[in-house]
Amino acid sequence: MDGFKPALCVSIHDVAPATWPLCEKLIDAVGKVAPIPLTFLVVPAWHHRCKGASDDACFAALDAHREHGDELALHGYTHLDEGRGPDCPWTYFCRHIYTQGEGEFAGLGARQARRRLAWGVEWFARRGWTPDGFVAPAWLLSDGSWDALASAPFRYTTTFSRFYLLPQRHSVFAPALVYSARSGWGSTVSRCVNDVCAPMLRSAPLLRLALHPRDAHYPSTLLHCQRAIEKLLQTRDAMTKSAFALHWSAAQHDDHWHGLRSAAGTAS
Ligand SMILES: [Zn+2]
Repeated sequence: MDGFKPALCVSIHDVAPATWPLCEKLIDAVGKVAPIPLTFLVVPAWHHRCKGASDDACFAALDAHREHGDELALHGYTHLDEGRGPDCPWTYFCRHIYTQGEGEFAGLGARQARRRLAWGVEWFARRGWTPDGFVAPAWLLSDGSWDALASAPFRYTTTFSRFYLLPQRHSVFAPALVYSARSGWGSTVSRCVNDVCAPMLRSAPLLRLALHPRDAHYPSTLLHCQRAIEKLLQTRDAMTKSAFALHWSAAQHDDHWHGLRSAAGTAS
């Protein structure tokens, strides 16, 4: 990908009416650094929550963000792991301890995954939205979920460390920086981890800063994320994930043709 300037995608995870007040604090914090485009990872039926009085205000706000260049991507349907039982101790750890039972697509068979993706796309369509991307809760995808994604109408998906173009599944190293702010202690640890790791990640074509509503509880986390964005913007272009998918896809296409021309001895 010669000539491809490294990118930064800042995303707000777990967006739903129930989490919207905290999401707004995150949006506000990022906006104070620079007016960069954001990717909102929206959960249609967050924890099976039925429609509430504040839903319309949240959806109107999301509409406005979308019109101003932010992206709305699908992030599961309920954000709860309701698939079949765990297979082994490692799977059990990932699904029930590490993710606290929120890895909705971690244990689904292809049929179940296909159904949930379809529900999500329909829910988006009812609001006049078309998601370009799908990001599984906790970035955990079962084999069945990968099968379902092969025929789903998405341009991209991501795991914790990679960004995948769909349906080909071409992938690129694109690590996510995330604050594990379940407690002040966890937040401090993750900030250290992020600080130590960031220099090692300079070569990644894409860095993703993943913010969760819980991060808004910690002023020190918000301050850290503002400084991190400020620093990363010195060397990276901020864009939505959908825009990155388009850029990267085009760059690959250029490389492909450049390679063909070189092979034919016609490159300039
Ligand atoms: Zn999530």
